[in-house]
Amino acid sequence: MKGPGSNILTINTGSSSIKFSLYKTDDHPVLKGEISRITNPPCQIDIVSAHGSTTLLRKELNIRGFREAAAFIVEWLEEGGYGESIGAVGYRIVHGGPRYREHCPVTEELTEYLKEITHLAPEHLPQGVEVMEVVGGRLPYTFDVACFDTAFHRDMLEESKVYAIPFEFYGEGIMRYGFHGLSYEYITEELGASGEPLDRVIIAHLGHGVSMAAIRDGRCVDTTMGFTPAAGLVMSTRCGDMDPGVILYLLKEKGFSPDGLNTLLNHHSGLLGVSGRSDDVRELLEREGEDERAALALKLFCHSARRFIGSLSATLGGLSTLVFTAGIGENSAEIRERIVEGLEFLGIGLHMERNRANRRVISKDDSPVRILVLKTDEECMMARHTKRIIHREGR
Ligand code: AMP
Repeated sequence: MKGPGSNILTINTGSSSIKFSLYKTDDHPVLKGEISRITNPPCQIDIVSAHGSTTLLRKELNIRGFREAAAFIVEWLEEGGYGESIGAVGYRIVHGGPRYREHCPVTEELTEYLKEITHLAPEHLPQGVEVMEVVGGRLPYTFDVACFDTAFHRDMLEESKVYAIPFEFYGEGIMRYGFHGLSYEYITEELGASGEPLDRVIIAHLGHGVSMAAIRDGRCVDTTMGFTPAAGLVMSTRCGDMDPGVILYLLKEKGFSPDGLNTLLNHHSGLLGVSGRSDDVRELLEREGEDERAALALKLFCHSARRFIGSLSATLGGLSTLVFTAGIGENSAEIRERIVEGLEFLGIGLHMERNRANRRVISKDDSPVRILVLKTDEECMMARHTKRIIHREGR
């Protein structure tokens, strides 16, 4: 490896936060941290040691924007004596566009291309590139790898990728890409490693962003997010699938600008939009008894998830394994129970006690479909990819 050390730093730039982790030899980071509220200061930084056992830093930060946040992380690592140990950096890049469909080393050409396609993911790509440039500039001897959220979906069925609009748009890259790929890859590897059936799997990534992927024999064949992460299921603040006629109506008759529509559909919709109160499932569950709109928002959320389980099961020709993951999927037994209610006809048999106890396997012993709750780990997946690419490139 080119850099001074052999540790791997992962940088996961989100829409308002940067998460980072430092890995030595195995899948467990020696430390991990997050700067949150970057777009809504004051920012907060939290850094914990291995397994979250010790808080290394926790405070408000007087910084502005992603560039300063990225610089702070590198300075903190250098001051703490970790700088020298870093030989490689894995960056999460939400969108690789039509050209970059596989995780790859960071090159100048890639960086320039990502700058050209920021319109494909305006909420994520601009800061993703900025952070890559700042960290790369401050750690010039590291080997850098870009890990794309879209990569896992590259081999989807063509009929899952193409939109039914004039075909020339497909050639221009207007197609379903799919997101949350690093989470899906991690879960798929976990299933493989533990000998679970991989033939017809649905993974339900239910977090702030919500999507599902259909996996046949380890390969993703279909997914719910599309050209952007706004498609598919009802989410915390995103609308999910909707009649395009509504968008035209809002543009033409209600005077929305493109930016106004972006805010409406990505930030003011979903659970938040319908409830008018909260984007957090926990708060809505607490309020649903006396708040009809909180109850309706939750019904809509579960209904949408149930519909997509049905639809992806049809794509797969049946179902052998259903996995729940991410914030809501890993923690809310109530929501899992509501989603699978009425899906017994698909062979889904939920074991109520196991579900409430948040066990790893929550299906009944005689359920034809295995139902699992697995913790996802996108940073670990980035570290694994980085290691593999280092090995492949003979570094
Ligand atoms: P993530 O994007 O995976 O970090 O998930 C964040 C989401 O998980 C938030 O929107 C929370 O509403 C949700 N969440 C976290 N813990 C719980 C819980 N115990 N019950 C319900 N939802 C939860």
